[in-house]
Amino acid sequence: MMTQTRVYLDHNTSTQMLPEARAALVSALDLTGNPSSVHAPGRALTAVMEKARDRVANAAGATRQQVIFTGSATEAITQAIAGGAKALDIDEIIVSAGEHAAVLKAAEATGLQISRIGLLPNGLVDLEALRTALDVASVKDHIALVAIHMVNNETGIVQPLTAIETLVGPTKHFLLVDAVQAFGKVPVDFAERAADMMAISAHKIGGPAGVGALLVKAHCDEVRLISGGGQEQGRRGGTEPVALIAAFGAAAEAFGQVYDMDRVAQLTDALEQGLKQFGNDGEVFGADGPRIGNVVNFAIPEIRASVAMMGLDLEGVAVSSGSACSSGKVGRSHVLTSMGVPPELADCALRVSFGWSSTPEDVEAFLTAFEKVLRQRRKGQAA
Ligand code: PLP
Repeated sequence: MMTQTRVYLDHNTSTQMLPEARAALVSALDLTGNPSSVHAPGRALTAVMEKARDRVANAAGATRQQVIFTGSATEAITQAIAGGAKALDIDEIIVSAGEHAAVLKAAEATGLQISRIGLLPNGLVDLEALRTALDVASVKDHIALVAIHMVNNETGIVQPLTAIETLVGPTKHFLLVDAVQAFGKVPVDFAERAADMMAISAHKIGGPAGVGALLVKAHCDEVRLISGGGQEQGRRGGTEPVALIAAFGAAAEAFGQVYDMDRVAQLTDALEQGLKQFGNDGEVFGADGPRIGNVVNFAIPEIRASVAMMGLDLEGVAVSSGSACSSGKVGRSHVLTSMGVPPELADCALRVSFGWSSTPEDVEAFLTAFEKVLRQRRKGQAA
């Protein structure tokens, strides 16, 4: 019999909304008007939105002028790449093979030449390959837009952003950083960095889905995300969803107080210890690389991810496969493939991701449920 989901361990997909964000959302929903209006109700909405802008800027180490609110990080990335390609005279795009689909699809949509930089077996971007790609672009007199993530959503690997900036920064090329899984968990320090643009999202830090931001340095101000009514200083048209933005601001301010990295890392440690009981042929992906501490992406070769996920769901435990397509189907992870993980093992990859509300009881519940699912699988195979 299907039980209701009790244990949520899929925080990289979307985390629980913070009470502060919910309160800000509900309160702003009571305001009537449009922030573009000059009358008092319009100004009241503008005040709420600008307070949120300050909070998001503060959490991202950015100035308020650098923050453009968007409908999602996907929008921020897609439009930064499409708009950037035009406004910055980009000739080619360089991406890592481990990018989120938002980056990969937007790069493809430009029709420009794309260079894909591989991942090393530990999940890190191959810096030598990036150096070579940049050199080749320079020899061709190409201007490249490099789009790379800061923290991988599937493995939690923290990319060497400073080293990447050292390669890209002093050249005529541009750097767009997908900081969606980093923002709130590690300092992203946008203003201090050499990165030209950076995408962030609210629903990964306890805000609502449907709002994100592109952070933009002044020299990229000509990048237009959506033309229209001149909102966001002419950079992103469309009436702003003030309630969502207010909630994003509240989450940006509150998340750092509730998300305790050490506590979360203890949960991943406990989970990895617990996984050892299932045999020695299991593997934790990216275990040798620098990881952010809230993700365990692992495979036990005898059980495919689709089967394990279904079994866990019936036990009331929500996790994700290495890569969940929006169709709900489980696809093979391009991130793990790029790290050299064999297809049979990649097909067994499960991602457990912890968040601000996760507890040691969640780890226990996961291990108990997984043990049961595995036992049933073994019994089924023996029958
Ligand atoms: N980039 C990364 C690394 C992500 O993990 C996600 C969401 O899963 C996105 C981009 C897209 O974010 P949004 O859901 O705000 O469009």
